[in-house]
Amino acid sequence: MLSIKNLHAAIGDKEILKGINIEVKAGEVHAIMGPNGSGKSTLSAVIAGNENYEVTDGEVFLDGEDLADLAPEERAHKGVFLSFQYPVEIPGVSVTNFMKTAINETRKANGQEEMPANEMLKVIREKSELLEIDRKFLSRSLNEGFSGGEKKRNEIFQMAMLEPKLAILDETDSGLDIDALRIVANGVNKLKSEKNAIIVITHYQRLLDYIVPDFVHVLYNGRIVKSGGKELAYELEEKGYDWIKAEN
Ligand code: ADP
Ligand code: MG
Ligand code: MG
Repeated sequence: MLSIKNLHAAIGDKEILKGINIEVKAGEVHAIMGPNGSGKSTLSAVIAGNENYEVTDGEVFLDGEDLADLAPEERAHKGVFLSFQYPVEIPGVSVTNFMKTAINETRKANGQEEMPANEMLKVIREKSELLEIDRKFLSRSLNEGFSGGEKKRNEIFQMAMLEPKLAILDETDSGLDIDALRIVANGVNKLKSEKNAIIVITHYQRLLDYIVPDFVHVLYNGRIVKSGGKELAYELEEKGYDWIKAEN
């Protein structure tokens, strides 16, 4: 589904990604771990098409299609979803209305008609029940006065509504207490299917107790320096990142 080949990316003169290779198949969960400043957020931003970064070499393919010339919205319409480490507030726009707009924009971009209002309500009801989201929450302004946990839950709700092909969760766990972490992880696990793939970016192993990855990659200084199964996450938890730094 996602194929990243020899990806190099820079900001200005500074090269941040120095040749990344990753293959993600449908149905898989990949975790990307690594010390702060390794390039994890840069990698997710580049996949999503953030124009602040310049791709200086290599390719990113989604279902065989080179994403290079596609704008962030076009990538989103093709099913790439990136959670935000710092979600924006949109006063006056309710969670529900934001979601309706997002869904219909995606459908329009894919040549589909708007979702009929009754179907929309049904889907919103189903997904909010799945994620244990309160009715009252749906009429609140997007992210305005949301607690950390509510922001994360809203992100997962967006993901559930949009049903992305590829979901990238960048440090969705940062700042969450254990209950919120469990809710987010349960949501992600319920949405996991044979048709989609999930990339979980995290500094800590904790989230991976709940979202069990098929593969773990360690990113350090712009390169994947180690890949393995879920046991690699435990090894990192136990030994920290110093041995990785020493070896590279
Ligand atoms: P991580 O998510 O692993 O903590 P980042 O991708 O945020 O790492 O950052 C990787 C490196 O790129 C860091 O050295 C960071 O300082 C640098 N960097 C990221 N964004 C910018 C930017 N907008 N301008 C300059 N340097 C940046
Ligand atoms: Mg960071
Ligand atoms: Mg980061």
